[in-house]
Amino acid sequence: MSTGSTTTIVHHDRKLEGSSGSVHAPLYTSAEYAFKSSRELTAVFQGKSGYTYSRQGSPTTTALESKITKLESGTNTVSFATGMAALTAVFFTLLQKGDHLISSQHIFGNTNSLLSTLSGLGIQITFVDATNANNVKAAIKENTRMVFTESLANPGTQIADMLAIGDICEEHNLLFVLDNTLVTPWLLQGRKVKAGLTVNSLSKHMGGHGNALGGSVTDTGLFDWSSYPNIAESYLSVEAQSRGLTQIKKKGLRDMGGTLTADAAHRIATGLETLPLRMAAACDNAMKIANELANHPKVNAVHYPGLPSHPQHERAKKLFSGYFGTLLSVELIESINIFDFLDNLKVFALATHLGDNRSLVLPVAHTIYYEMGAQRRAEVGIPDNLLRISVGIENSKDLLKDFTQAIDQSQ
Ligand SMILES: *Cc1c(COP(=O)(O)O)cnc(C)c1O
Repeated sequence: MSTGSTTTIVHHDRKLEGSSGSVHAPLYTSAEYAFKSSRELTAVFQGKSGYTYSRQGSPTTTALESKITKLESGTNTVSFATGMAALTAVFFTLLQKGDHLISSQHIFGNTNSLLSTLSGLGIQITFVDATNANNVKAAIKENTRMVFTESLANPGTQIADMLAIGDICEEHNLLFVLDNTLVTPWLLQGRKVKAGLTVNSLSKHMGGHGNALGGSVTDTGLFDWSSYPNIAESYLSVEAQSRGLTQIKKKGLRDMGGTLTADAAHRIATGLETLPLRMAAACDNAMKIANELANHPKVNAVHYPGLPSHPQHERAKKLFSGYFGTLLSVELIESINIFDFLDNLKVFALATHLGDNRSLVLPVAHTIYYEMGAQRRAEVGIPDNLLRISVGIENSKDLLKDFTQAIDQSQ
């Protein structure tokens, strides 16, 4: 991301068209919008830009969307109530029965569950180990429409071979959808790996303060929508480059209704102003913790892309602007009781969620991977003593001291 991103974002709102100069875009809470004339009202219904009913967006969500578009250097963005609502809109509005989707096997658990719903509706899904792009290539079929990966996987921290996948998608004219939540456009803009759409959960780093849920879909402008077969007749009249996002907005917001509230949009937009500062601080903290724990006698393994031992360390170096993310997973030695260890922590919050100002920690097998059962956990490599740590922006010395005292006290 360009070093000017903070400059752009903090001055963004007061420069919006029609703004009063207020440094934040106002919070519009109206459900409906009234028109001075019936002709104006009908014009907006027939495609002129404007607002009719807030299920399809408000000036407050538009202001946030344009900030996100700038961060991703995309062409346009649509916001949603949550990251899951954004993903639901992408998959359900762009895929049809009989289509084939290739997905990375290392994806967010709820997305995995969403894809199983999709599969029940007649969309074929092939899961591949996307850390090797050859697996993606080998899975392509005649009816393949879309390839889906995340930019960094949770909790294993695997990194898909995104540059090569982007090339493969370009060559085969497939839509590459990248869930960029874990690294944010500040570490990696989706367009760098030729993604056509990027999805961000705004509930995580983008908002950053753990006080609002949201999601977004950004068109990077790289995908040729004129050849995409699933665009509804009614949207073929808009210019080709806008068709994908128009369909996502019309069907995903207007029909499905997972709309971001103005209040949440406002909080997230404020959070975005400090994204680069927060990310730099949290990534630095994560690197320090990973280095400290990598050689700790009571730690079996540390999974963090910043460590040279990480299988995709070189890839992370190449892709992530010199940083390695804020998520690490740490496997304690078997003799330590993971619950006693967690209860000894004083600074880290015992909580799910990621990408918060606060450092959060979770015993993986007992929480987010509990439902899958012991056998499947063993197959996918989730040991009972695995911790997921989402590192925040606290003073690194406090975090290191807390982790060390908790581990020293644990038997
Ligand atoms: C959290 C998360 C989501 C879902 O976002 P919500 O805003 O919580 O719905 C999607 N993808 C990834 C990678 C996530 O971490």
